[in-house]
Amino acid sequence: IATVAPFGGGAHHPAVAALITIHDESEQQRALEMRTDFVANASHELRTPLASVRGFIETLQGPARHDEAAHDRFLKIMGEQAERMTRLIDDLLLLSRVEEKANLNPTGQVRLNELLNEVVRSLTPAADERRITMTVEPETSSLLAKGERDELFQVFHNLIENAVKYGREGGSVKVHMTENDRDSVRKRVTITVTDDGLGIAPEHLPRLTERFYRVSTEHSRRIGGTGLGLAIVKHILSRHQGELSVESVVGRGTIFKVVLPKYK
Ligand code: ADP
Repeated sequence: IATVAPFGGGAHHPAVAALITIHDESEQQRALEMRTDFVANASHELRTPLASVRGFIETLQGPARHDEAAHDRFLKIMGEQAERMTRLIDDLLLLSRVEEKANLNPTGQVRLNELLNEVVRSLTPAADERRITMTVEPETSSLLAKGERDELFQVFHNLIENAVKYGREGGSVKVHMTENDRDSVRKRVTITVTDDGLGIAPEHLPRLTERFYRVSTEHSRRIGGTGLGLAIVKHILSRHQGELSVESVVGRGTIFKVVLPKYK
């Protein structure tokens, strides 16, 4: 705070100029710290699968050189680790692209019914694998949200994919859309994604949208993920003047609720 950079000597409003400068410096400092943390976390997340791949390469070159069975097994694991790194890099790039656009205000019109059904179709193979039934309701709806289609696709893809991943095997995932208050001036739409799966303990709820944050349970470790999905959701929604909230009961299930401006 002591170092104030004056704007070109004879400024007409030196006090105001100084105030702005101080504000900028602390903002920049905070952004810098977040950036440093982020790079450290991202490097760590990439290093783990990389270390595993390197370990297997050494084993294949050394002790397991002539072990045919080990070859197949290790190559399969190496493939999975490479896939994990690809997913991480894809998510990191996506997050940075979304952040770049943070100050642009999306104005497009998105037909929710179509969008949600498209997301659900894209996740059908994953849901089938866990024998999960997905539904979008109401079946016929002409609700329009204001926003950018690709980004809103990503939001619901991440939420519904999570519901399928952490949902109950043989259970259901329900997607529901509704208009908030027909009479109010600031019209909004609400979309909920409900699963009947694992649930999330209350202490984790406030931290879910932090980058790389994952609830560490036996199940979620086995499932795998980057911990970036909900951070991406949060960033996209913030640019859309949207809201995200979550309600959950451990062992019963989870409801993620998205509120977006309605396209008039
Ligand atoms: P990930 O790639 O780990 O799924 P996300 O950012 O999408 O990352 O989610 C963060 C964490 O929140 C997940 O690791 C999981 O522990 C928890 N989570 C998200 N959605 C659900 C859900 N529908 N049910 C239970 N837990 C969930």
